[in-house]
Amino acid sequence: MFEGLTERITSTLKSLRSKGRLGASDIDEIVSELSEALLEADVALEVVKEFVETIKSRSLQSLAEATPSINPASQITEIINQELISILSADGSRFTFSKRPPTVIMLAGLQGAGKTSAAGKLARFLKSQGNTPLLVAADLQRPNAVTQLQLVAESVKVPVFAPEPGNGVGDPVRVAKDSIIFAKEKLHNVVIIDTAGRLGVDQEMMAQASAIKAATDPDEVLFVMDAMTGQDAAVTAKAFSSGVGINGIILTKLDGDSRGGAALSVARITGKPIRFISTGEKPADFDYFYPERMASRILGAGDIATLAESAKQAFDSDTAARLEKKFVEGDDFTLEDFLEQLQAMRKMGSFSKLLGMLPGAQSGAMKKQIEGLDDRELIRTQSIIDSMTPGERRDVKVLNGSRRARIARGSGRSVTEVNDLVERFQAAQKVMKQMRSGTGIPGAQMAGGPGMAGMPGLPGSFSAPGRGVGGASGGRGGSQPPKKKSRSGNPAKRAAQERG
Ligand code: GDP
Repeated sequence: MFEGLTERITSTLKSLRSKGRLGASDIDEIVSELSEALLEADVALEVVKEFVETIKSRSLQSLAEATPSINPASQITEIINQELISILSADGSRFTFSKRPPTVIMLAGLQGAGKTSAAGKLARFLKSQGNTPLLVAADLQRPNAVTQLQLVAESVKVPVFAPEPGNGVGDPVRVAKDSIIFAKEKLHNVVIIDTAGRLGVDQEMMAQASAIKAATDPDEVLFVMDAMTGQDAAVTAKAFSSGVGINGIILTKLDGDSRGGAALSVARITGKPIRFISTGEKPADFDYFYPERMASRILGAGDIATLAESAKQAFDSDTAARLEKKFVEGDDFTLEDFLEQLQAMRKMGSFSKLLGMLPGAQSGAMKKQIEGLDDRELIRTQSIIDSMTPGERRDVKVLNGSRRARIARGSGRSVTEVNDLVERFQAAQKVMKQMRSGTGIPGAQMAGGPGMAGMPGLPGSFSAPGRGVGGASGGRGGSQPPKKKSRSGNPAKRAAQERG
């Protein structure tokens, strides 16, 4: 998401830490590197200027006030963190539901920004939290916009209000207005109105959006913006915001954005916060936007909170509790348990995307390792285990030559691959036994290291119940890396740890 930016900022901060004592010239150097990194990430020039000015004056002040016991590099990192959060928080408002339902959300955006998909994703997201959203087809302009919304609605199993065929036919203001009456009758607590997108923000678009806004009195007007278009999009959002008035932004295509400056630019230029982000084409690739988490990612400190949430969703608490009990009671960790973990991990999404949220994931060696990861490895491993009988999964020792040949045939993999998996699994089992008996953890257990004794497609930090995601009884603590090696994902805490 922010690879380039994170990599540069991380290396700047690293060189800072190696210096120990800092002077004004060091601050100048950092500020100039920071501003280069931000400009390269396509952050708007005015935003960069203001940002680095603040960093500079606050850093100089903190150097002047610093006591010898406080590490100045950590202090400056924390200043950058705070300023990033402050920009990304914009006016500080958060998405809230109306006290008098339905909560009306109006979506606007340029064609191709991902507005229709965002409408579906938002509906799905809110529905998953127990709401009863209604999608409204009020883009009656763009060819096939109504049909597209209907398809999207069907895919996320959310009802759609589409009384007009569109393609230039029908009055969008009337549709929007009627949809509120309909929603009240049918007890939908959220209404998501998809309004017409254009190629550019023009008077006609704004006039129509303003009319829909006046007719429906939305709680939230959200501008859908493509992160890949960088600062241009921020200018467009600003024009729309001035003309129509918005409450926030939905930032899409954050997955494809290698530069990522759009988030900072749009928040600063419009003064409105990003409410939601879309990070992929799948309906589930959607979440609230958290300024703190984004700042943490930009600073290379990872996004443990999001990772923990994904894990919590993927591992139901029964499975987690059962695996933890097995581990504590000294039962063998079997391929059946492993299969369960693999399935849960696949639910969490792409492996490289997940690992990218770990602290340090965007820097040097770890980044290369993550890039080298092949999500298909997980699928291959699963297909081998799928081809085993339950008995074989519970006790791999029964796997003789002919059984292995049968499994290879069944899974479409080679016997060597089957052997490899079994061998690595047995090594992993041994590691777990040693962990349990407290005789140490051979092979670094951090992701990016050799992993669970080289278990295919499964880095160690995820694999051990009680330590990895499988070990939490639904709690957050379960996704923390092993204590021994842990560095806080929160730059403030980490700074404190490093000082201490
Ligand atoms: P609209 O014209 O604004 O309604 O845009 P659409 O919703 O039709 O989206 C345009 C294209 O962008 C489609 O191909 C979507 O699949 C794609 N898209 C939307 N959101 C995302 C995202 O977050 N990531 C990626 N990679 N593609 C997206």
